[in-house]
Amino acid sequence: MTVQRRALLAEFVGRTDHPTVDALHADIGRAQAGLNRATVYRTLETLVELGLARRVAVHGAACRYDPCVERHHHLLCERCGAVEDVFDAALDALRLPRPASGFVARDFSVLFTGLCAGCAPRRTKAH
Ligand SMILES: [Zn+2]
Ligand SMILES: [Zn+2]
Repeated sequence: MTVQRRALLAEFVGRTDHPTVDALHADIGRAQAGLNRATVYRTLETLVELGLARRVAVHGAACRYDPCVERHHHLLCERCGAVEDVFDAALDALRLPRPASGFVARDFSVLFTGLCAGCAPRRTKAH
């Protein structure tokens, strides 16, 4: 493991904003000159293969990476693209479907869409 990869790991672990490759590259690139985007991508994919990170697929947008590998769910802001974690025992208890097609469902994660606190219109007081 190179110094650059270690720096990437230190930056990634503990983040809860589900960064894209580009976001991580931009954040680490400042401190680690010469760290290229392909290395960031390969390192993240390796972490996923090792079970140390998860991909969060956002339809129509760049894949996000999540250092939290416990079962959890996500809130996606439709305006700014922010992704927040949701931990909810009731959601975790969902039964995996066993459709007649023969599809074998193994895992799931629920993605809720809406507006984050920063993007939602401010609630006005009722008079
Ligand atoms: Zn937002
Ligand atoms: Zn997450």
